[in-house]
Amino acid sequence: PFDVLVIGGGPAGAASAIYAARKGIRTGIAAERFGGQVLDTMAIENFISISHTEGPRLVAQLEQHVKDYDVDIMNLQRAEKLIPARSEGGLHEVKLAGGASLKARTVILSTGARWRQMNVPGENEYRNKGVTYCPHCDGPLFKGKRVAVIGGGNSGVEAAIDLAGIVAHVTLIEFDSDLRADAVLQRKLASLPNVKVITSALTTEVIGDGEKLSGLVYKDRNHDTVHEVALEGIFVQIGLVPNTEWLRDSIALTNRGEIEVDHRGETSQRGIFAAGDCTTVPYKQIVIAMGEGSKAALSAFDYLIRLPAA
Ligand code: FAD
Repeated sequence: PFDVLVIGGGPAGAASAIYAARKGIRTGIAAERFGGQVLDTMAIENFISISHTEGPRLVAQLEQHVKDYDVDIMNLQRAEKLIPARSEGGLHEVKLAGGASLKARTVILSTGARWRQMNVPGENEYRNKGVTYCPHCDGPLFKGKRVAVIGGGNSGVEAAIDLAGIVAHVTLIEFDSDLRADAVLQRKLASLPNVKVITSALTTEVIGDGEKLSGLVYKDRNHDTVHEVALEGIFVQIGLVPNTEWLRDSIALTNRGEIEVDHRGETSQRGIFAAGDCTTVPYKQIVIAMGEGSKAALSAFDYLIRLPAA
């Protein structure tokens, strides 16, 4: 069995594996796709001490750093079930798709998150042809163009404020009758001349000519009327979904599916820790995920050295 078994190979999982392996304990890392969200990221300019890097490059460096240590890397392995130890100090079990099963004294869950989609016709068809989920990455591509932001929570309103400084015009579309973002953000948004806010609107379709996106269709929920907005880009900002569906029966999750962790990164089960975007820790960022992953590994080590000698 492993002393530390990490599930997930993004920045949080890589940091956990390195910190654990440096303690000289048996460490394994199983990931559906090593690199995680960072693989899908182009420019990264907030990775402290590196002014600019690219996702795939950072992933290659993460992988090399993990490989500097004696870590059992199991890539392309999806965990499907977690069975916590029956008694304190016992072995936890993780079942993988395909039937294999791994056992470990401590587990660190770092399965990250994914962007929530609108699930309307055209959304997938025009992904990367106008539909995007990342204003920081793709904002500059729409310089001088018309875009919509879907979602009036903090991330949607932040995105609209951000994009208004780059693009010609922003239409912010919110399903509810009010925006849900912090008041200070809403005031800032209202002060911008090139932003229009449409509330009580349900986006029903992304349209285009098959090659490029040309707009969206929404339903006015108050009047039951259908409208079209001509656009070159759509930024979907309706939330991040933690990759924790498979943990529902094993550990405590919030109603949004985030793994509840304490200040040491421990979950509701002794000896099972979690880190990164899949947890309740706020601000889903690479440096934060790495810090939390390191912390979870140190907490796992601390737990292990307190177990009675076998
Ligand atoms: P993830 O990176 O999501 O990694 C999760 C890992 O778990 C993956 O290896 C995945 O395959 C694996 N996994 C999931 N489910 C299972 C399962 N059941 N079994 C086994 N493995 C599983 N942050 C910044 O700081 N700066 C930026 O510029 C930036 N830009 C971004 C741009 C884009 C397009 C995106 C999508 C994100 C960006 N982020 C950025 C956010 C950053 O990528 C995340 O905060 C960070 O990757 C979170 O790390 P993580 O390790 O918690 O999760």
